[in-house]
Amino acid sequence: LTSDPLDLGHNHTLEWTAFTPDRALNPQYNGIPDIDRFGAIIRHPRSDGVGECAGGVVFESYGAILIAAVTPSAAGARWNVESWDPLTISPSVLCTACGDHGFIRAGRWINA
Ligand SMILES: [Zn+2]
Repeated sequence: LTSDPLDLGHNHTLEWTAFTPDRALNPQYNGIPDIDRFGAIIRHPRSDGVGECAGGVVFESYGAILIAAVTPSAAGARWNVESWDPLTISPSVLCTACGDHGFIRAGRWINA
């Protein structure tokens, strides 16, 4: 599944990430279905203004809970999806690489 990035405004764009493992190589995922909107990559200007950066989020879902259970090393924070279209997630998104911080509400980036 591919699609154009969503323009969130403030020079932030969002691309969905999917969970589509090769189950022949990763049989631990045999009981877990593919997830089209597993999470997202959020591309943005670095908070210091020098260059581009990207951060990722994983959405809370039953599938994500199952994946975390079989791959504890991959388990991390998960975001609640309050609305898919337009997209609203909680809590806020903080980029650990550059410190960019904001909210995604009603399909728009809102600086924190
Ligand atoms: Zn960043």
